[in-house]
Amino acid sequence: MRIDTEKCIACRECIDFCPMNSIAEKDGVVAIDQDECVECGVCLHVGVCPTDAIFRPEEVNRYPRALRAEFSDPGVWHPSTKQGGRGTEEMKTNDVTGRFRRGEFGMALEFGRPGTGARMTDLEKVLQVLVTMEVELETNNAVFAFLEEPLTGKVKAEFRNEKVLSAILEFKIREDQLEQVVRQLQPVLADLDTVVSWGLATRFAKDGTLPVRSRLEALGVPARPNAKINMGMGRPIVEL
Ligand code: SF4
Ligand code: SF4
Repeated sequence: MRIDTEKCIACRECIDFCPMNSIAEKDGVVAIDQDECVECGVCLHVGVCPTDAIFRPEEVNRYPRALRAEFSDPGVWHPSTKQGGRGTEEMKTNDVTGRFRRGEFGMALEFGRPGTGARMTDLEKVLQVLVTMEVELETNNAVFAFLEEPLTGKVKAEFRNEKVLSAILEFKIREDQLEQVVRQLQPVLADLDTVVSWGLATRFAKDGTLPVRSRLEALGVPARPNAKINMGMGRPIVEL
């Protein structure tokens, strides 16, 4: 995003709306830090500028910069998946999709939050560990369009320094891999210069318990159970 200095009257109205704190005033001039701006579009969509000085330049529609808006602005779709958002739609509706079967865990690593964002290099550090383990990466995730092929976990050179508000890596593991995956990823995640939320999708056991909770507790991983309930979707529960 840019600010037209000819139109801007330095009223500062837009500054507090930026979730990345990338708009600032210096010596009476309000400008956007282009390295930190994730192209989320909030400053423009909120419509607070009295002089219409905020604008999206043409370069935002071209790669590599376009990657930022694809992951950060809900109104911009990913050309590779023809969807918006940061992850795949079906991960949270496993009871009707059956994507994660008994004996498997679905996992999602959500990089970045308002105020921090995430660089593609953050995802790369984790991906390079994941590709060394027998995990099944979700290739329908939009992140895959920006990775080197054949898959090494590296991001294509032109996208490595791009920054987004948030991006999600999704993968599937066998239940017996839980301890190995947690132990290998924990030090990598702790070393990143951003925040990561770690989600695990599992099925209730037949007796209504969630056995994974005690395994996570033994690993020192705090778990906060939650569920997405599908009301009235008219689709039967998948039992696989
Ligand atoms: S597009 Fe988003 S990140 Fe960039 S300056 Fe505007 S509000 Fe901030
Ligand atoms: S709201 Fe518009 S005029 Fe006011 S500081 Fe921001 S860009 Fe400038």
